[in-house]
Amino acid sequence: MKKNPTERIYDNTILLYRIVPEERRVEFIITQNDNDAIKKISEDDITSLSYDELLKDTIEFHQSFQQIKAIISEQKELMREDKKAADNQLKILEVFENDSNFLFKYYINRFRSIFTAEHSYVVKKEWRASKCKTKDRIDIFLNNIDTITDPAYFSHFYTTTKSKLLFESDFIIQEDYALRRCIGAEICIQEHLVKFDVSYFSLIEFFYDFSSKLSASEAFVNKCKCCNNYFFGEKNALYCAAPYCQKEYKRIIRNKKEYDRTHAPDKQPIKAVDDCVSTTKSRLSEKTNNDKQLMSEYSIEAEKVKQEIRNEVERRIIEHEPFDDDSMNKIISGLKYRIRNLYQDLTEKFKCT
Ligand SMILES: [Zn+2]
Repeated sequence: MKKNPTERIYDNTILLYRIVPEERRVEFIITQNDNDAIKKISEDDITSLSYDELLKDTIEFHQSFQQIKAIISEQKELMREDKKAADNQLKILEVFENDSNFLFKYYINRFRSIFTAEHSYVVKKEWRASKCKTKDRIDIFLNNIDTITDPAYFSHFYTTTKSKLLFESDFIIQEDYALRRCIGAEICIQEHLVKFDVSYFSLIEFFYDFSSKLSASEAFVNKCKCCNNYFFGEKNALYCAAPYCQKEYKRIIRNKKEYDRTHAPDKQPIKAVDDCVSTTKSRLSEKTNNDKQLMSEYSIEAEKVKQEIRNEVERRIIEHEPFDDDSMNKIISGLKYRIRNLYQDLTEKFKCT
């Protein structure tokens, strides 16, 4: 059966894309698949998304996709008999229209045009001549979208070949093939010609190239411990690049370093004695109205105590002795006892003056 080459089964839009790894950004243009339309494209037609914004849009879309899939599957059953019922069903998809999310915008339009086209195909009974039927094509279409929008798939997307992916997703009716001559487009941006690639198959080419760029830059999908958003980063990175999360990350690292510094086994005895010295100093200062002479006497003795525990720790490092055994506990208690006695003596002295 000779097909009329000007008759298109699906709408005639294509998606142009450009991945800019050095800026961690992608650009999309939805346009008509003809040279005149492509020539008229200006910068205003470009949707620019950072990698993380794209990831967010993809995840959001993917989370709603099971619902969308259920609606489409139901619609698929209605399509053959009743165009009106099918159209009404398609209206339900309007609730998913979300202009701020590129994937919703792209796919919802795509579902509409595909259903309209498939319906006319069914009506004309042309599906009999086709290798695979409308329902099968729609199922393949849905499964493809399900897979490529799943971030868990990003990291191993690249392990399969592009042609295999395209073959599996090539549900688009072959007569349309001859019309798809455009393999790329050069768009003039700020007086420079910039090359865009084309994704015909529901973003499959785009996601393939994108995952290969991710793989080349060793970027992985991670979940931020602070804001709980997913982001691209080094393997097992914990915090995203958002300023608040980076601040939080630095704070935690600082605290961890401080914790390690004071909680290392050889630092514990020193900390125990130093803490006793400084709290006793505050108490003494209060008790003696910060008497200059007495405070100075205290400091001289306290420094000796502090030095003693340091010497003891150093000796144990050299002799490979433990820092937390009974003998060490006795030494610490003895030094604390000396500090307390010192406090007693000095407060007595203060009372006598
Ligand atoms: Zn974050």
